[in-house]
Amino acid sequence: MRVLVVGAGFAGGMAAVRLAGRSRGRVDVTVVNPRPTLVHRLRLHQVAVGHPVAAPSLRDTLGPDITFVEGHVTALDPDAGRATVTGPDGVRRLAFDRVVLATGSTTEPVPVPGGEDVHGVGDLAAARRLRTAFAALPAGAQVAVVGGGFTGLETVTELAEHRSDVRVRLVTSGEVGGWFTPPAAEHVRRTLGRLGVEAVGDARVHAVEPDRLLLGDGGHVPSDLTVWCGGFAAPPLARESGLAVDRQGAVLTDAALQSVSHPQVLAVGDAGHAPGPRGERYSMSCQFGFPSGAHAADVLRDEALGIVPDGGPAALDLGFQGRCVSLGRRDGVLQLTTREDVASGRAWTGRGVSVFKELVLRGVGRTVGVSRRMPGAVRWPGAGRDGTGREASRDTETVAG
Ligand SMILES: Cc1cc2nc3c(=O)[nH]c(=O)nc-3n(C[C@H](O)[C@H](O)[C@H](O)COP(=O)(O)OP(=O)(O)OC[C@H]3O[C@@H](n4cnc5c(N)ncnc54)[C@H](O)[C@@H]3O)c2cc1C
Repeated sequence: MRVLVVGAGFAGGMAAVRLAGRSRGRVDVTVVNPRPTLVHRLRLHQVAVGHPVAAPSLRDTLGPDITFVEGHVTALDPDAGRATVTGPDGVRRLAFDRVVLATGSTTEPVPVPGGEDVHGVGDLAAARRLRTAFAALPAGAQVAVVGGGFTGLETVTELAEHRSDVRVRLVTSGEVGGWFTPPAAEHVRRTLGRLGVEAVGDARVHAVEPDRLLLGDGGHVPSDLTVWCGGFAAPPLARESGLAVDRQGAVLTDAALQSVSHPQVLAVGDAGHAPGPRGERYSMSCQFGFPSGAHAADVLRDEALGIVPDGGPAALDLGFQGRCVSLGRRDGVLQLTTREDVASGRAWTGRGVSVFKELVLRGVGRTVGVSRRMPGAVRWPGAGRDGTGREASRDTETVAG
């Protein structure tokens, strides 16, 4: 069986090495990725402030059992089993029996007037552009980060900690820190204050002008440089290939991660919209990326080995455990969640969490390489029978550095 994996982020890398390592030589795995090195997307806000980030070789990471092709899949015909790849060696065609779409995501097209001029941290090129623009700002300049989710929080704190001579604001449509349990949210707001970040909550941006953001209530926020962390969207390849996709361009799949329109296509990581335990898609995260890549590999391995489970390929059973968010380099929040990814229970905060997060980031960067050597190593918790997870409690605990 010829399996083509499009995209070598964490999800695609995991799918490829696990499949190659567990299919007893019955599967030829080819991976296509636009660059020959791994992009550690969880560190892109660090790239934006000039922090050096390691970029390991994909050929080394994937190993000799996988064919690596540097290039961009520019056209995909799932029915004919053909892909067109454009890369440094020109245009070539690849044939496949099954394809794993692992093309990830990037900053969504900004849905307001003036949005074409904003910055982002959704992909490496954008983070590098932001690095140049942020470094060139004069003292006293105004910066606005739009979006109070995890990426917005990590980005705004990183920028503020890096340059105390510019005025940094967080503009978000909801409550600042609203996703966390109340004590952890309070810690987030205190930390923003300590870093000099002005938090503007319950604000909807209606337009971006060169020196300010216009808000829905008629107000405005000064901004010489705007960073959009309002949401991510999938690249256009899936939609252009005729696959059924959601509004963000992610492939609609069943619980086994097979496309609902083209079962020969599996979609993993940020590129896939699988039904999560609450009916919504799983959040775009490594907690979904690694297990989904591993599960897709197992579905394809079973098919290649002729193991046909009763009732078709197994559904992904995945439960979330917690979220670890850095708030600059000296603070963070580790928040427990229910299996359904709702903040609940204990949260740890402080310098110890930032140390823990750094260890997590290092571990994430090594996971594909480790899985190549031990292809069955990655395991994950299931959703649990009642799906409700822990009882909510209001604890937080500060972790000393
Ligand atoms: C700043 C930031 C901080 C984050 N922090 C966290 C965090 O703390 N915890 C967490 O769980 N998640 C975090 N995330 C989200 C996390 O990074 C993503 O969920 C994860 O990287 C998704 O992995 P992926 O493999 O699906 O996609 P990606 O990592 O985006 O990889 C997709 C790959 O596909 C390639 N590709 C795209 N189109 C094509 C094509 N047509 N042909 C060939 N290749 C293609 C891309 O170039 C890329 O290499 C963060 C994201 C950002 C941006």
